[in-house]
Amino acid sequence: MNTRREFFEDAAGAMAGIAFVGCGLLSGGSAQAQGRRREVVVNGRRVKTVDVHAHCSVPEAMALMGRKVEPQTLLMSRASDRIRAMDEQGIDVEALSINPYWYKAERDLARELIRIQNEKLAEACAANPERFVAFASVALQHPDLAALQLEEGVKKYGLRGAGIGGSVNGEELADPRFHPFWAKAEQLGVLVFIHPQGTGAPTELEGRLRGNGGLGNVIGNPLETTIALSHLIFEGTLDRFPGVKICAAHGGGYLPSYAGRSDARCVTFPDRCTKPLRKKPTEYLRQLYFDSLVFTPEALRHLVAETGSSQIVMGTDYPFPWTKTAVDHILGTPGLSDGERVAMLGETAARLLGIKA
Ligand SMILES: [Zn+2]
Repeated sequence: MNTRREFFEDAAGAMAGIAFVGCGLLSGGSAQAQGRRREVVVNGRRVKTVDVHAHCSVPEAMALMGRKVEPQTLLMSRASDRIRAMDEQGIDVEALSINPYWYKAERDLARELIRIQNEKLAEACAANPERFVAFASVALQHPDLAALQLEEGVKKYGLRGAGIGGSVNGEELADPRFHPFWAKAEQLGVLVFIHPQGTGAPTELEGRLRGNGGLGNVIGNPLETTIALSHLIFEGTLDRFPGVKICAAHGGGYLPSYAGRSDARCVTFPDRCTKPLRKKPTEYLRQLYFDSLVFTPEALRHLVAETGSSQIVMGTDYPFPWTKTAVDHILGTPGLSDGERVAMLGETAARLLGIKA
């Protein structure tokens, strides 16, 4: 049994492993106000921590669609604020991504928008190469173009993968239309970060999510991820592209919380599972990656149980203040080995994103 005592001992043990290393005494005794860089150490070993879920915006690209940046903390011209927050939270590297707002753009506009955006992402990384890497943005509504943009993003701009939405104008990522994109991602061996955009186009579901609490985001986002991943599994996309590396935001939404139902489905109603899969649905969770943004030690423990600690990478959702304790969440979750904590804090993400140790 996992007792409270065990939790606190474990958490304390983990916390004892954290070192706070200042950047030297600052004059005027304002070291705290000036911010210090927290360096994370596990069992005597400095860990390079990586946040795979960090948003930003490129205003020059947004202007092409008549959009403005909101909130301003998304701007990379404010990288010093971002780095200060990273330093406080013990995050060494952010993998930047941009939530798609361009999926309705026609081909020429989409080509120009993505070119500008990926160029600016590369510039932002080059300005602070120790602190930032980025996922390329791609015009997934034009799958063949998206494949080219991913290749260019990786080879020309040094971007580390692609950031995509959980659906494209109401179409599922598992739609065969998107196979050229998945084939390219698999061929390049780069990580694809899936971030939901709510339930997408106006639907009956969107109507039901109106009201207090902003349920379109709080429930709609993880629901979209759940639907996207489920289709990628059940439509055989992951069988077709077994080498594709996918990381799902928000701990994969609800899928890992209720994964057993996906297996039970084909046993209970075999006539409804007409496409043969190579594995049980839940077994695909062990080839996908998930960020750690699930808020409680119990939720993270369960995510580890369903997917394996090797599949979990740290995510914060910066600059949206869902959490400022992503590092402590991993350090303080009971039952993990030091090696598992190191993997989740940064080792796995560094390997997937080509970040030097
Ligand atoms: Zn996010």
